Amino acid sequence: MKIPQNIVSLTERNKANFWEKVDKNGPLPDQSNPHYSGLGQCWLWKATLDSNGYGMIAIRRRMKKAHRVSWAISFGNTLENMCVLHKCDNPACINPQHLFLGTLKDNAEDREKKGRGNHPSGEDHPLRKDPSKAARGDANGARIYPERMTRGDDSWTRKFPERLKRGEDNHKTKLTAVKVAEIRRRQALGEGCVALGKCFGVCYTNIRRIVTRETWAHVP
Ligand SMILES: [Zn+2]
Repeated sequence: MKIPQNIVSLTERNKANFWEKVDKNGPLPDQSNPHYSGLGQCWLWKATLDSNGYGMIAIRRRMKKAHRVSWAISFGNTLENMCVLHKCDNPACINPQHLFLGTLKDNAEDREKKGRGNHPSGEDHPLRKDPSKAARGDANGARIYPERMTRGDDSWTRKFPERLKRGEDNHKTKLTAVKVAEIRRRQALGEGCVALGKCFGVCYTNIRRIVTRETWAHVP
């Protein structure tokens, strides 16, 4: 997940432009749900939404999340590295009373607590179901916003290598150190990456990376 960006300072014109795009007569969150009881109506963003349903607004040619702008207008620009989260779980809502500040960790915990944690992988992954939705090539964010990529020594994996879950500590892995050693041994004896991939239930590119020690480098 991306570290949230700060909102640039807002002019009066930015603010006026912002409020024009808001419908304060949105739905009332389900009062029978203890997570939502006491919340008033949602204020819905009427303009652009991103693919996750969050309102978006261009401020000085940069797209910003509308609920973050709403927080900045209402409570000041205190957003450095913080998430603005929804009490109402309605991503299009920008009602400042429905927002709260939290860390990325709070965001994940809030999501799990409310049962919205959703971690499809493999065949259930949305990109596997509909590969045409992948932003590839020039449509990829990394291509459109190269300056946003944290590369090389800026990458958090470089800064905090101890935080990386390696090998079997990574919950997504299908492989174990024993299997990896076996893959390397069999590849050295002449088995191809495609055949080994089929045998171990992973993609041949995985095998190639294991063999070239791009991955699982810690396994001897
Ligand atoms: Zn709301």
